[in-house]
Amino acid sequence: MTGLYIHVPFCIRKCPYCDFYSKPYSAELAELYVNAVCRNVAALKELDITADTVYFGGGTPSLLTAEQVYDILDSVQKNVHLHSPEITLEGNPSSLTYEKLAGYRAAGVNRLSVGVQSADNSQLRFLGRLHDADKAYAAVYAAQRAGFENISCDLMLGLAGQDIASLTASIERLTDLPITHLSAYMLKIEQGTAFDCEAVRGRVADDDLMSELYLAMCAQLADKGFEHYEISNFAKQGYRSRHNMKYWQLEKYIGIGPSAHSDFHEKRTACPADIQAFVAADVQKNVLIEENIDRFEEYLMLALRLSDGVDFDELARRGGRDTAESIFAEARQLEKHGLVKFHGGGFSLTDDGFLLSNSIIVHLLDCRKCTK
Ligand code: SF4
Repeated sequence: MTGLYIHVPFCIRKCPYCDFYSKPYSAELAELYVNAVCRNVAALKELDITADTVYFGGGTPSLLTAEQVYDILDSVQKNVHLHSPEITLEGNPSSLTYEKLAGYRAAGVNRLSVGVQSADNSQLRFLGRLHDADKAYAAVYAAQRAGFENISCDLMLGLAGQDIASLTASIERLTDLPITHLSAYMLKIEQGTAFDCEAVRGRVADDDLMSELYLAMCAQLADKGFEHYEISNFAKQGYRSRHNMKYWQLEKYIGIGPSAHSDFHEKRTACPADIQAFVAADVQKNVLIEENIDRFEEYLMLALRLSDGVDFDELARRGGRDTAESIFAEARQLEKHGLVKFHGGGFSLTDDGFLLSNSIIVHLLDCRKCTK
């Protein structure tokens, strides 16, 4: 089944670390944008798609009114076969009110992802966020009152002033909230952002501290009953993000909105990051990013992000038995260093292995070349 991603490209103000595509919010432009999204959804009808996830990402989807979200979902309902869908909306605590949340819930949204980032106000100020910790907790409780049972929070690692004690306190506070899922991202200084300067680089965690923070977080969340199912994602049982699992399991998805990517009909395409062009076009004009995709390499890279890990039969099916055997032999070596664990018909990375995942992937991909 297909996943539907809708990129909402508006923010009140740009956070200094962020390189996602977004433009300053304007009610007028948002209205044009919603109409354009509905036109694009209507164009899906001829593809006769069955979808089981819809994801409003951004940008700041919670800048849309409940009526606008309703209009988009109504259009989805009319043009796509929906099968028990997980419908997620990313919300910024600064723009979430009980009334709005109740409206989103009534419109059909059944999963909320709240950009909390930290429970420490000085770290939130460092990130240039518009909310403080109390505002974030209030948003989560308001979501619960509005009927959301599936709530995720985002947390960031490596912030200026963040040590193990303050991270532990943030996790303690967040896991006291009625949440089912937590996404934890290591702060990365992206090129061209306001954080891309020596002054900020000198204030954020170095590699050693980042590793300590990550391992401490993994241990604490395991104690709290969260399954570490993906390198950066943790869930209570039964609450993995079904939409994001599609990306990691190489399933099909269609992206609508400026900068949204699609992987459909064996082609990877993207809608240009240009809100004016998007609202002006009848239907978005995607550009080709990749075709003849090397699904073996992708499978290995993505499966290694997941605790389900790499399956021998699947690897052999995609890359041949010799390659699979060679990779599994190499993984046995990594197991001796505590970087890999074997289970069932496959293996996955340990928490220590996740920290070295990029070099492990390169190393394992080299095994393929040896068998070619
Ligand atoms: S609110 Fe989110 S998408 Fe918008 S600038 Fe900040 S981090 Fe980026």
